[in-house]
Amino acid sequence: MTIRIGVKRGRPDQRLGRFREVLLAARHTEFYAPQLEAAGLATRWGVGSLREIEEGLARLPAVNLRAFLDCPESFRNPAVRAEPQPATERVERTPGGWRRALRLAPHSIAGSFGALKSLACDKPSGKACMIRSLRRVTVHSRVDRGLLREADRDSLWRAFELPVFEQIRGLDGELLAWECEAHTGLHLHAEHAVAEAPGNGGGGELVLTSLAGLRYPMLRMLTGLVGRYAEGLCECGEKSGRVILSPCMRTPPAVGRESLDFASQGALAR
Ligand SMILES: [Zn+2]
Repeated sequence: MTIRIGVKRGRPDQRLGRFREVLLAARHTEFYAPQLEAAGLATRWGVGSLREIEEGLARLPAVNLRAFLDCPESFRNPAVRAEPQPATERVERTPGGWRRALRLAPHSIAGSFGALKSLACDKPSGKACMIRSLRRVTVHSRVDRGLLREADRDSLWRAFELPVFEQIRGLDGELLAWECEAHTGLHLHAEHAVAEAPGNGGGGELVLTSLAGLRYPMLRMLTGLVGRYAEGLCECGEKSGRVILSPCMRTPPAVGRESLDFASQGALAR
């Protein structure tokens, strides 16, 4: 099987610089330290000598998501402090309140599925005040917690009566990919992610590397998501490469439902 590296758009020098930062951060983690040592990437000189991202990735083994779920602490870089929880991950009783204070009309309501579900539960009772300007619901899903199930997506649609779009975020909560406006897959955030996935001809497991996560570095993570990589102009007008997930994606084997308050998979590419 031919593996293609999703390197689209973005400035190569900046992306390589970000990759180097992630490698240097990963040196401080219990899990990656020995791998980087074996790959000759445990020193600033070794990391600095890389000429391209692919060269570094080729030296590293793929990592099963299970390794992270079993011991997240071994992936933590103690040199980086935890950031405050993003406001979008908290339940917002009056979505867009601060925007209204500034006289800006919010067009999207966004957050984790748990936060949105909580808001949806409050909506019929009038506790949550929805704003007429809202045009979409954006769900922040994470690699380690799985994607929306179709039933979850439908429940959000019924609750908010707005189109639902999903984002995939990394172990630090960084944006890695977003759902296409035409629902034809997930566009990669070129500045934040490198994807390894089979090309247009076939399907296989998506392997993701984050170029933005420094507290929980993610290098060559086997996501359990099955799909293929596609290039070229998308129906939505976007030129960046996208991952088209299989309509019958399998549940990431490493993700247990017991760790979630919602489902672990869903069909994004329809
Ligand atoms: Zn698109």
